[in-house]
Amino acid sequence: MKILLHVCCAPDGTVAFERLKELGEVWGYFHNPNIHPEEEYLKRLDSFMKLVREWDLNFVESEYNPREWFETVKGFENEPEGGNRCRMCIEFNLDKTAIKAKELGFDAFATSLTTSPHKDLIFINGVGKKIGEKYNLKYIESTFRKKNGFLLSVEYSKKLGLYRQNYCGCVFSIRKVEKVN
Ligand code: SF4
Repeated sequence: MKILLHVCCAPDGTVAFERLKELGEVWGYFHNPNIHPEEEYLKRLDSFMKLVREWDLNFVESEYNPREWFETVKGFENEPEGGNRCRMCIEFNLDKTAIKAKELGFDAFATSLTTSPHKDLIFINGVGKKIGEKYNLKYIESTFRKKNGFLLSVEYSKKLGLYRQNYCGCVFSIRKVEKVN
């Protein structure tokens, strides 16, 4: 089975790659136009490419199109983290991953987002399944943070020297960190 894995960031991708490879041939897809500013996007993309080189992984190139992402979440800018804006953001990236998987003839898709302790696993897996049905593609449900998955991702990141960000990604999540500080 050929699986296209949406990689939200290199650290979360480590455990996802490791666990999915038992199910088939995994290719990484760093599709995250939600990340702001562009310098931060490039920093996280660099980290993903470092992981690709270190572990000799397959990957599919993606586009950085923040305008389309901003259009998608328009009107929901002030939602709290974990609210409707985040649901739209996750659905947007999973939908793009499924479209790419379909276009390239993959059998299935998945996301590394479930490595994060901050994300809603029920929502992610529910929306992934819905998108899979829409494109007639298998969505692989995951709970990568479980069985020490998150801790393992931190260990791998330290070992490989992967960049670990201190905010989720979009401009609205930067504001939240600034407020806390
Ligand atoms: S906080 Fe994270 S998940 Fe929510 S909209 Fe921003 S980048 Fe997406």
